[in-house]
Amino acid sequence: MSNRNNGDSTGRRDGTTTTVGGGRRGGSGGRRGGGPQRGGGNNRGGAPGRGGVNDGRGPRGGQVGAGRTSAVTVRTRRIIELPPIMTVKDLADSFGISPPQVIGSLIRNGVMATINQQIDYETAEIIASDLGYQTRLVIPQTDEERLVAQLEEQQQPQRDGAAALQPRPPVVTVMGHVDHGKTRLLDAIRRTNVVEGEAGGITQHIGAYQVEVQGRKITFLDTPGHEAFTAMRARGAQVTDIVVLVVAADDGVMPQTLEALAHARAAEVPIVVAVNKIDREGANPDRVKQQLSDQGLVPDDWGGDTPFINVSALTRTGINDLLGIILLVADMRELTANPNRPAEGVIIEARVDPNQGPTATVLVHNGTLKLRDSVLAGAMLGRVRAMYDDKGQKLRKAEPSTPVRIQGLEGVPQAGDQLMVVADERLAREVADQRARTAQMATTTLARPKTLDELFKGAAANKAKELRVVLKADVQGSIGAIQHALGQITDEGVNVSVVYSGTGTISESDVRLAAASDAIIIGFNVRPDPAARRVAESENVDIRFYNIIYNLVDDVRAALSGMLDPEYREVIDGYAEVRQVFRLPGREQAAGSYMLDGRGLRNDRVRVLRGGAVIHDGTIASLKRFKDDVREVATGFEFGLQLTNFSEFEEGDNMEFYHQEQVRR
Ligand code: GDP
Repeated sequence: MSNRNNGDSTGRRDGTTTTVGGGRRGGSGGRRGGGPQRGGGNNRGGAPGRGGVNDGRGPRGGQVGAGRTSAVTVRTRRIIELPPIMTVKDLADSFGISPPQVIGSLIRNGVMATINQQIDYETAEIIASDLGYQTRLVIPQTDEERLVAQLEEQQQPQRDGAAALQPRPPVVTVMGHVDHGKTRLLDAIRRTNVVEGEAGGITQHIGAYQVEVQGRKITFLDTPGHEAFTAMRARGAQVTDIVVLVVAADDGVMPQTLEALAHARAAEVPIVVAVNKIDREGANPDRVKQQLSDQGLVPDDWGGDTPFINVSALTRTGINDLLGIILLVADMRELTANPNRPAEGVIIEARVDPNQGPTATVLVHNGTLKLRDSVLAGAMLGRVRAMYDDKGQKLRKAEPSTPVRIQGLEGVPQAGDQLMVVADERLAREVADQRARTAQMATTTLARPKTLDELFKGAAANKAKELRVVLKADVQGSIGAIQHALGQITDEGVNVSVVYSGTGTISESDVRLAAASDAIIIGFNVRPDPAARRVAESENVDIRFYNIIYNLVDDVRAALSGMLDPEYREVIDGYAEVRQVFRLPGREQAAGSYMLDGRGLRNDRVRVLRGGAVIHDGTIASLKRFKDDVREVATGFEFGLQLTNFSEFEEGDNMEFYHQEQVRR
């Protein structure tokens, strides 16, 4: 950016003085008032000009031409306004110092960054206090927000007044433990209620479908399970009005039942419990009621407010009752939309069809989508060339809560992207381009994980005073103990809220739940699987591992009082697997192993995992290839391993090689 400044280091600009009234940082006052880069709220079209955040009255330096405002100096020390994200150079410009000074401070604070790298406000704040500046976060209206506001303004001169609102069908997601009958139930519902005469059309899997009950429609998303649900929610799309929680009556509440429950609760969506497989011998619906009551989901006939319906997806018993209850719950929610306006919707799924090009399923949530509408979906523009319902019938229009497959987008948007009808295609093109740029930028932004202390700062700033945690442990007993211990932390005036707890490996779904609810994950004697690890990285979810409750509680307490000082970070070097166990004299053991991924180093520590739980964590006694001691084993090689004080290897055990790295703060 061109916003050079004339602070003490570059005081050659236009002769303006750079005095700072009484500032303890003499000489550094030549900073301009505005936030860097995007300006303070009224910049136009991404032009590099400043927004209106400077006070406009400071003695103005000479113009630098081309509409760019040069540095403005002020005679009083004041708070520098910064945007949520800025480059190192922008920050230096804001302070009126040279970029190397900022980089130096970053390094002192443990962040390696180059001049054009982006940092977030929280980092900038740390640098500011290090260098003695005062800052304030100003969230500028982004180009995108401005453009979207304009788009909406153009086609929505009248708002959706109460009079314009009409009832719309509820949108339902089915969740539950694997094999409890989600798919079968969705099938049974679909078949029970194919509207006569409407048949003929072949059922198409487009990601959602509608059925008609008592002359009213219900929309079902037919990707069962909570992964899709949470992935969408993490993208800001909340499409579900009601969750049907399927629990097999013979199996009872299982881990994924609880996960699904946590997801539905995190989204604050009402739940209807479908107790499935009641045709089975050994079906025990009352046990399901009891188990869910223990989780705070009390059946309405027990005085609670959750409907429980006994069904059999196999014999299709109870399906109509279930649908009737869904309508009742929908009525209580008073779901409405305005069909007489241009459509807004959410992309449920999208792909490239070899014959038809990009196609996407849109769930319309407001307005009516019409053939030939110009639309913007995520970063993709297009025109609705053809539109089909879930029976493959051609449609000319789709009203609120209707899922439709559309053709005519110029590319494939992502599931969870918002779709809107646009009147001004030129403006829409700008938004699309801006979104593409933002997506591009996000990949170059300095990755800053959401760490425990950062989350806490965020919580404190929002006055939320709540630290959310997803807790996974090896056994149920530990969960109880940890929850109890966390519950004792109250003196800091902050709540620790356990969004979800469960036993076993940290899964992708746990990570998505954490991402969607701004939580951290605490693993007690358990580890994430590779998919979870990947998602945690891409979603910047902090996973912390403990094997001593005291340490865990200590860390959380420290974070809550803002004193967390993570000095060490764990770096995983490689994953290996035990293929054969050799007995050695003296009850010793060696593990004939295979390096699956990464590498193992002689000085690493090794964690032994069985069934996702950590059974040992310690140092290496010997690392060999054939008969030779080696310093390192690479991916794809076999090796022999002995650990200090451990001789309980079993075939199939997994191992993590890791070391600790000091983090400078
Ligand atoms: P999902 O993993 O939750 O989608 O479960 P599925 O719908 O694939 O069902 C798992 C298994 O349970 C399948 O073999 C189904 O045929 C069976 N199943 C589902 N619902 C019922 C039911 O109501 N009664 C009986 N007896 N079996 C069912």
